[in-house]
Amino acid sequence: MAVKSRKDEFFDELEIMPPVVREEYLNKKLTETVKHLYRHSPAVKMILDTAGISPGQVQTVKDLEKLPVTRKTDLLEMQKENLPYGGVAAIPLKDIERVFISPGPIYEIQPSSIKWFAKSFWAAGFRKGDVVINTFTYHMSPAGILFHEAIRDCGATVVVAGTGNTDLQIQIMKDLQVTGFVGTPSFLMTVIKRAEEMGFNLERDFSLQRAWFTGEMLPPSLRVTFENDYNIDTSQAYAVTEPGGAIAYECYKKSGMHIMDEYVVEIADPETGKQLKPGEIGEIVVTPIHNKSWGLIRFGTGDLSSYITEPCPCGRTANRITGIVGRAGDAVKVRGMFVVAKQAEQAIMSFNEVSRYQLNVGRRQHRDEMTLKIELKDKDADKAKLTEGINKKFQDTCRIKLDKIEFVEAGIISEDKQGIVDERKWE
Ligand SMILES: [Zn+2]
Repeated sequence: MAVKSRKDEFFDELEIMPPVVREEYLNKKLTETVKHLYRHSPAVKMILDTAGISPGQVQTVKDLEKLPVTRKTDLLEMQKENLPYGGVAAIPLKDIERVFISPGPIYEIQPSSIKWFAKSFWAAGFRKGDVVINTFTYHMSPAGILFHEAIRDCGATVVVAGTGNTDLQIQIMKDLQVTGFVGTPSFLMTVIKRAEEMGFNLERDFSLQRAWFTGEMLPPSLRVTFENDYNIDTSQAYAVTEPGGAIAYECYKKSGMHIMDEYVVEIADPETGKQLKPGEIGEIVVTPIHNKSWGLIRFGTGDLSSYITEPCPCGRTANRITGIVGRAGDAVKVRGMFVVAKQAEQAIMSFNEVSRYQLNVGRRQHRDEMTLKIELKDKDADKAKLTEGINKKFQDTCRIKLDKIEFVEAGIISEDKQGIVDERKWE
């Protein structure tokens, strides 16, 4: 079945604001939000007072750097000390419409009309006439209901499936001629494999055209499988529950996720909280600026990414985050750049000749140095060619150069020592 074109259709005007207009827009919304929350959320008042910053001193996105990053663990502590919401709620308790529960437990309140989530599904091609199975949980967590409402806001029909029971989900998808899947990439793969085991042919027996993913990485190879082998058009979004849900989303170009204008999204150094430049890897820090009931400023997600400012051919003008490359705890800072363990591993282990590796970060003459030690499966492999290949791949992936590659004898690197070893001393 031909996939409907989803080019050149925007959900709202914000998506195509010229960058200078956006800058003003975000600054204005942020200023209003901080002022409002300072008056209504005890948590925000405490954070600003402790930092010695008055709300009037936050006029621009850059000014956010003056404030500390609040993490999930902080939120948990704040709520434990001051139940039920840790002073984060900025409206009278009787006006709270609904409460979601994240692991912790962390209690989050949300208004019941959040139109902007729909942008993400709209950009993915969901429209009236689509029948969409929502396989995110409707239990405690916001995912099920919020995505449900967003799919509805695109005009599509929602099948309230929730998680689990693969066989039943397959039957539902077939019986109801489901055209859209919403869930995780791994669950869709489970569904497809199981359907094949049950004797179905996905393209012949089902009507599935598109899939929308969040909650886990969509590996490029899996995307190719969905799109080429099964003819399913895929899109992904980045969502975090604490600051309010879907924050960035892909357009049909599938090259990075556009940041929603309902949030200020910073890529910040996880140690200092300072904002980083385009292309540099740092922590995604989120401040909702369209939800005046929830006083969360600079929420540190712990997810590492970078952002790009190049214009996107789709016409949307918002900056794009480039996907999640790891968690803040898994990165080491080398010459001012974060090297993410998982990314380094992907680059190095993409060479079949490598059996084990260790990436040592040391310091010589006040400069960080990275030495990659490698054990080979076959000691007669072409070392010069391999050195060149690994150097290039590493730099392309991690955006920083290796200083040296050493080939060591098999057995030198023990299994538990594989990975990044930080040998720097800071006396
Ligand atoms: Zn785009």
